[in-house]
Amino acid sequence: MAKIIRAQRAKKALVRSVPKKGPKKAAKAQAKTKGKTAPSAKKSSKKSKPSKATVSKPNVSKPWTPAEVREVFERFQKANPEPRGELEHLNPFTLLVAVVLSAQATDAGVNRATRELFKVADTPQKMLDLGEERLRDYIRTIGLYLTKAKNVIALSQKLLTDFGGEVPRTRAEIESLPGAGRKTANVVLNMAYGEHTMAVDTHVFRVGNRTGLAPGKTPLEVELGLEKIIPSEFMLHAHHWLILHGRYTCLARKPRCEVCLINDLCRWPEKTV
Ligand code: SF4
Repeated sequence: MAKIIRAQRAKKALVRSVPKKGPKKAAKAQAKTKGKTAPSAKKSSKKSKPSKATVSKPNVSKPWTPAEVREVFERFQKANPEPRGELEHLNPFTLLVAVVLSAQATDAGVNRATRELFKVADTPQKMLDLGEERLRDYIRTIGLYLTKAKNVIALSQKLLTDFGGEVPRTRAEIESLPGAGRKTANVVLNMAYGEHTMAVDTHVFRVGNRTGLAPGKTPLEVELGLEKIIPSEFMLHAHHWLILHGRYTCLARKPRCEVCLINDLCRWPEKTV
């Protein structure tokens, strides 16, 4: 029954019109290869928890071969050789703060707040000098801002006390900071220090499951699955390619299979091509 309902939804999605707003850079690159226009970044960038409705089981009867996995990342690389994260930052500290602020919030919403904040507080000491109360004023448009303000002040303090004012370079040390978890550590290690980590957000979780590249019930399972199969030469950018793919092409409710670069390889039984 559930399968019939999902199939009907997928069919309905096909006849809906394409969003009017213009695409972002990465989506353009992907859509261009198929001669289509990418969707509105605004609509698709909203973060949500992975749900069963949008992450159903891939066809595991046909496992991915190493050659197919390589093919996927070669296509992503060709379409977008230097993918960039969308959280604005100036240095490892502001990246860390931006990632902590981004939990349950959109990157665009975080950027609107941090553009002004980072002009006055781009180091742990300056953040402490700003103080929790004034920090709240900068970030009050971001969800959970009271808790996040507390965490940013506490992590700034800890960076000064325990790490000489620098953002540490190990997962355990980053995870010891208030408000920072595994995903934060993975993003910071990858973007600030060039480590081959895989941060799994809602988009990567969905793509990993739908395509069958790395099925998993938890973000950690998907993370470890992806790390296991992605060739090392693609790992520096793999996280961004998968996020951008999920954000602009493999959308939660209406995946754009018709313009998807990997639609011939994807194992999702409900893909619309
Ligand atoms: S074909 Fe592409 S867009 Fe469609 S479900 Fe698979 S990965 Fe997502």
